[in-house]
Amino acid sequence: MINRERVINEFKRLASFDSESFKEIEISKYVANTLKELGLEIEIDNAGDLIAKEQSFSFPHSKGNIYAYLKGTGQDFVLFSSHLDTVSPGINKKVIIEDDIIKSDGTTVLGADDISGLVSIIEALRIIKENNLKHKDIELLIPIAEEPYCQGTKYFDFNKIKSNKAYVLDLDGPVGNAAIGAPSIISFTIEIFGLSAHAGFHPEDGINAITILGNALAKIRVGRLNDKTLLNFGKVYGGLQRNSVPDYVNIIGEVRSLDKNEAIAILNNVRDIFNSEAKRLGGRISLEYDIKIEAYKVSDNSIVVRDYQRVLNKLGYAEPKLITTFGGSDNNNLNKNGIEGIVISSGMNQCHTVNEYTSISELIKSCEIVLELMLDTN
Ligand SMILES: [Zn+2]
Repeated sequence: MINRERVINEFKRLASFDSESFKEIEISKYVANTLKELGLEIEIDNAGDLIAKEQSFSFPHSKGNIYAYLKGTGQDFVLFSSHLDTVSPGINKKVIIEDDIIKSDGTTVLGADDISGLVSIIEALRIIKENNLKHKDIELLIPIAEEPYCQGTKYFDFNKIKSNKAYVLDLDGPVGNAAIGAPSIISFTIEIFGLSAHAGFHPEDGINAITILGNALAKIRVGRLNDKTLLNFGKVYGGLQRNSVPDYVNIIGEVRSLDKNEAIAILNNVRDIFNSEAKRLGGRISLEYDIKIEAYKVSDNSIVVRDYQRVLNKLGYAEPKLITTFGGSDNNNLNKNGIEGIVISSGMNQCHTVNEYTSISELIKSCEIVLELMLDTN
């Protein structure tokens, strides 16, 4: 039933919008109109304004999260979600099709993250309308600003949602994979304050912030700490010049853990070590952190997983591969708000790189799965 040409054209159309995070206004209008034409009720919130206010930046190119609803023919509600934004470089994307493969020209991302999800949802709805198929009560949450730590859905009013199960189309890898668990992500910034002095005349008067940093880092293990927790220091800057004792260094990093308490314990340990190393040399530190998203774990026996398995079986595909991911998604915010959601692959590979690609066959498979999940089988 899936219309191959229409799927390809829709993918190209969506990729033609420059839709990096906070620049989603044009793609948002297009998606909202398309859904309206398909008979869905549309609401757009003011998440864009709220983010702009919180972060005090001007925000002319984003409005809000799209919520859409299509009344069903049964009693069953289901939510689908796919975000509007892409990472950068995502301006002036060129879509190149070689046989089954769809890729960019190598100067930008392709945007299959998350256009593949949007295409799947739109095509499934078109098929339902064309064929007048019986379907569930369908809710859509199409957020802005997913890439920068799911900021769009942070401001979404989840009281609107009637579904208690959700499919978030936002997973890298073969269609058929589904993530049923994801981590808490805590970002942090550590500032180290020392004391400057001339490195030749009065080095004894200085407190070297870079030395404090080095001593602290030497005592901290980074990378994969165990099977559920990771720690990374990602960027450092500071210092003055070659012949001055540096009085300031700033380092940023993040902790990811499937166990929120363990993430906080790791962060506290980092703070303690930096504190004691600073004190030892007469300096001081400050540490600020932000819990970006919170961990969830959905049972592999839950209705949302079992329905997914049923659909893959029915379509003759292999059993879904249920995984735990170390990436966050809007599904973290859904689960935090009491909606049992899983993240499913919709046909994206090597996302967040200029080598990102999808394939026509995977997109069609994803459309089929979404369609089947929408249908009323009772
Ligand atoms: Zn994504």
